[in-house]
Amino acid sequence: MLNCREITERASDFLDGTLPWPVRLQVRLHLMMCRFCREYVRQLSLVVRSLRGLPREAPSPDTQRELLTLFRAEHQ
Ligand SMILES: [Zn+2]
Repeated sequence: MLNCREITERASDFLDGTLPWPVRLQVRLHLMMCRFCREYVRQLSLVVRSLRGLPREAPSPDTQRELLTLFRAEHQ
């Protein structure tokens, strides 16, 4: 069984999906039982997602509206 330190060490690989499946299974089992590590992995996944997702993500409708307003203001 993995302990909390081992989970946090493997958390980013876990999120990347690069862990071999037996380890992945052990991490999942640990996360089911351990609130601390669940929270850690959740926070980390938010950070990872925002770091990776930002350049590819389409702007939100609000941002699009704002850009459109700026664009129109500039071209009047
Ligand atoms: Zn833990």
